[in-house]
Amino acid sequence: MADENNNNEFIDLHIHTGYSDGAHGRPEDVAMRARKMGFKAIAITEHDHFESYPYSYKACKEAGVNLIPGVEITTNNPKRAISYHVLAYLFDPNNEKLIRFLRDAQEVFQHNLRQTLIGLKAMGYPVAWTELEDATREKYSYLEEPELHKPDIYVLSEHMVRKGYAPSTPIADQIRREALKLAHNVLNYAQQQDVFDAVKGAGGLLILAHPQGYIQEHFASEHLLRELVAEGLDGVEIFTPKHPSDRRNFYLQLIERVGCIGTGGSDCHDSRPGIPVCTLGRAQVPARLVRGLLTRHRLKYGPKSSGN
Ligand SMILES: [Zn+2]
Ligand SMILES: [Zn+2]
Repeated sequence: MADENNNNEFIDLHIHTGYSDGAHGRPEDVAMRARKMGFKAIAITEHDHFESYPYSYKACKEAGVNLIPGVEITTNNPKRAISYHVLAYLFDPNNEKLIRFLRDAQEVFQHNLRQTLIGLKAMGYPVAWTELEDATREKYSYLEEPELHKPDIYVLSEHMVRKGYAPSTPIADQIRREALKLAHNVLNYAQQQDVFDAVKGAGGLLILAHPQGYIQEHFASEHLLRELVAEGLDGVEIFTPKHPSDRRNFYLQLIERVGCIGTGGSDCHDSRPGIPVCTLGRAQVPARLVRGLLTRHRLKYGPKSSGN
């Protein structure tokens, strides 16, 4: 990739499309925007699934945009009693074990959603699974393969509002969280060690997503970051609209001391009440960060495995 040191060139390594909860619709729409904005590279990092990668790959290839294989994995860390998002990059997109691992992770979400419906019924808000499937299919009918988008908590909250169970989606969110608490058979997200093993087994890198915000008090700690790096973490997402830009220096110094890399992306999601739409490229991630990612990958796995 040329001109990585040019400060006017940007990348975006954290993008969601309609195949998870993205703001920019189809992969084709994302690829065209990225091309218009002149991005040197992008990564489309859907939540806990990789099934739509062929569509992202095709769209980026047609638009002439460099696509780095990526996925965002919800990770449970029982030792530290927290869960967080991990971004995986540059893994082999055809690695069967990782694809199967992500399918299992997706099953956990589907299972917990079914448990939420059981809790909702007990609370007097019945929703049938088939209703949820129909609502999902309708919402994502614009995708080339809408079936890849499984029912999720956002579709459920919107459906609850339509049914008159809540006046707004934030209230519906509260009710469904209560419902999940009532359920007896809730499963945990994928365990950190299993996530790390699956991604490493596929030749990928592991980046802690948007560290500030939901886990700030834990991850501001250098000690803990050192522990995570010793356990296999490769870096931290530093350029993100989720924390103020004045925190960037703090994280840049932190990764330098700890010896890991920094990445960044807009994390553009759906527009929901109270959550502004996050637009592609908003994080203004310098293109030079791709070099750090590729160098780390080369050092870890050797010169021949370059992901995509
Ligand atoms: Zn996230
Ligand atoms: Zn995200």
